[in-house]
Order: sequence, then C-alpha cells, then structure tokens
Amino acid sequence: MVVSNLKGELFEHPTLKMVGASGIYAKIPEREELSKLPEGSKFFTIPNSHPGGVDPKNNKVKIIKKSNWTKESFSIQAASTFPAPGWMRTLLPFSNITKPTDTLPLWAYTAIGFDQEKEEFMCAAVQVDNCKRWDPFNFDDSNLRVEISKMKKKFPKNRIISHLAYCASESHCFAAKNFFHQRWEFGIPIAPLCNADCRGCISLQTDDLFPASHDRIQFVPTPEEITEITAPHLEKAEHSMVSFGQGCEGEPLLQAGIIERSCQMIRNQTDKGTIHLNTNGSNTKAIKKLAEGGLESIRISTNSFIREWHNAYYRPEDYDITTIYDSLCAATDSGLYTQVNYLVFPGITDLEAEIEALIKTCLSTGVHVIQMKNLCIDPDLYVKTLPNIDKKGDAVGMKKLLDIIKKELPNVAIRYYNRPKNEWHIDPKK
Ligand code: SF4
Repeated sequence: MVVSNLKGELFEHPTLKMVGASGIYAKIPEREELSKLPEGSKFFTIPNSHPGGVDPKNNKVKIIKKSNWTKESFSIQAASTFPAPGWMRTLLPFSNITKPTDTLPLWAYTAIGFDQEKEEFMCAAVQVDNCKRWDPFNFDDSNLRVEISKMKKKFPKNRIISHLAYCASESHCFAAKNFFHQRWEFGIPIAPLCNADCRGCISLQTDDLFPASHDRIQFVPTPEEITEITAPHLEKAEHSMVSFGQGCEGEPLLQAGIIERSCQMIRNQTDKGTIHLNTNGSNTKAIKKLAEGGLESIRISTNSFIREWHNAYYRPEDYDITTIYDSLCAATDSGLYTQVNYLVFPGITDLEAEIEALIKTCLSTGVHVIQMKNLCIDPDLYVKTLPNIDKKGDAVGMKKLLDIIKKELPNVAIRYYNRPKNEWHIDPKK
C-alpha cells in the first residue's frame, strides 16, 4: 500500500496491502490487473481523503488517517497515479473522502501500490496499445518556440497557427506539437460550439465544479485556412494524418460543411496521409457525406452504450445513443475505418449490462476498433452522475472485460491511439 503525507511525499505502508476500487466498492486487485508502473505515468494525491489498505491478518480493508509506524505521527491522504498513454486502468484508488463537496480535476485516478521484492511502483492498469509515436519522451519542447515562429512566418495570415501554438505551448497538446514538429498525426480544431454538455468535457465546464483544462477555439477556420496547413503536412510528414475534433474544441460535426469542403480541397492537392475525424457521432447524414468528400477514418466517443448512462454523462441536446448507433452503421457502410472512443471506468464499463450492450452494438454495426480510453473524471462525481448502477448486474473486472471483447469480437482491434491507414488491421472498404 502506498500513501501520501499532506506534502505529497509518498510512503509505503509497512503492513497493509494495496486495495483498489471497482465503482464505489473496495476490491483487492488480482495479479492480472496489476502492472509495473509504466514510464511517463504521473503521481497524484487525493486531497481530503483517507486511504484504505488490506490488513493481511484478516483480509479486511482498514482506513488510515495517520501514520502509526513513524516516531512522529503525520496525517495521511490517498495516493494515486495517472498511467501513461496506452494503459487502461483496472481499478480506481480506494479511500474515504472527507469533503465530498470538493470535486477533483479531470484525470484518470488509478490505484497505486509498491512491490517490496522488486522495489518498484505498481499500478492497477494493463497495456492496451503501444505506439512509440505517442511516447511522452518523444515530445521534447526545446525547439518548439523556434518551430512555432517558423510556421507563423510561413503562414502569416492563417488564424489556426496561433491557436495551435497556444495548444502546443500552454496546454502541451501532443497533436498540436506534431504540427510544429511536422510529423505524424496533428489535430486541427474547427468547432467553437457543441451539442452536448459532458460532465467531463475538458474544453467547457458548465457546472462550475472545476475549471475546464483547455480553451475552446473561438472561431471557425475557413476551408482555405485548413487546407493551406494540412495538405503540406499530409504530403510530407512521416506517418502523416490530420484529425478534426480535438480536446480544445466543441463538436466538429456542427461544422460538417467546412470539413467536407476541406477534405475535397486537401485531396485535390495530395492523396497522401490519412484524414480522420474525432466526434460524438451526433449527425449520421453528415458522416455519409464526409465519407464521399474524402474522410477516411472516424472515431465516435461514448461513455456507455446504455441510453440512460450516455444521456446522463453527455447531456446531449438533440441526439442520443440511437444516433450514435446509426452513425457507426453509416461509417462502416461508407467504408470509413470506424472506431469507438470508449470512455472506460472500472466498476461501470465492466458491468454485465454494459458489456452486453457493447458487444451487441459492435456486432450489429461492424465497428473495426475499440479504443479503451480511461475516463478522466472525479470517480465520486461519475458514480453519482449515472442512474441505476446497482441494476446493471455484477462488475466482472476490466481485465476480464478485455478477454470478453477479444473472444466475442475477434475481428475488432483493441487500441488506445488513432493510426494512419498504412497501419490499419483491415481494409474498411472491403
Ligand atoms: S462532446 Fe466533446 S466537446 Fe462536446 S461537451 Fe462532450 S467532450 Fe465536450
């Protein structure tokens, strides 16, 4: 068991063992649910919390408030980790929250432990994807300022450059940095507005529980501005890919006409690279048109395939899970490489009813990829957001969920990252 003092220094508890949480319930991790903490993970404390650990004498969970193993006792708070990209969380941290009114910012809080024999940190996560291009160590900022000013000189009138410069240097967005490094997948924000109001939206928070971590783009770029910077990137960059729909914007399908025109203009200049869209899937008709216009790959996000849970988290204005279902069908029918951005959460995503809904949807829509993305949100807030959790069966465990997906959906790839078309596992047009 790993705990933190109030200064954020971490300690190993001398006797108690690590415990995690599945939803609100304490769970002793199984060996297959644990991994050595991957490089690039971050450490977090959970303020106003008292962590739980398992007493090996009776296998019961004990809540710790103070250190009782040091000369001078000090107050304890829970420790957790945010695993590196590519790793799916299997358990949340388990603790008693002393101030439930304070909401944690948007991170994927994950149970953490320490292996005494190997003397290394462990985390409740398993690797679901490995793509070196997204390795945090590949994002060296030492030349970023120079690269930003080069691009500003090259495209002096293009308003997107200043926005991407802010995303790259202030929000540390890897997809924005890739534009300035002229490599791989880069993101192009285009949408100031959204037709949903997600509890965990990183670009706009309407509940005032915590600040959004990113700023939405304030204007809609023209197809000319988009094409001016995108076509050369797709033509020249390695593993080149452009993605509409980023963390720093609203819903790109609200600007579907702009995307369609941009795809056509880009493809008039180059046939290289991959054009991709990240979306909430709220406009089925637009997806068909975009596929005709040159879009090649799509990723539709949802936290759940159960209507009441999707609605409770997304709070959509004018669509719901049936629209997403139709959009997935439209995407596969139109020959798009079709991916689900599945916002997963231990104790919810692995409940029997959710698994059933996931498998049924994937089988009937022909989805090609499920990206297992840790839902970044205060665990207590998420559990309180979803209605009727106790009526959805038992939680089988996140690692078992992966095994079930592999068995029931053998043609569906489990991933974490988008991929350019030369790395797709199937040809979506066949
Ligand atoms: S769909 Fe995306 S942009 Fe819209 S509220 Fe949800 S997270 Fe935010």
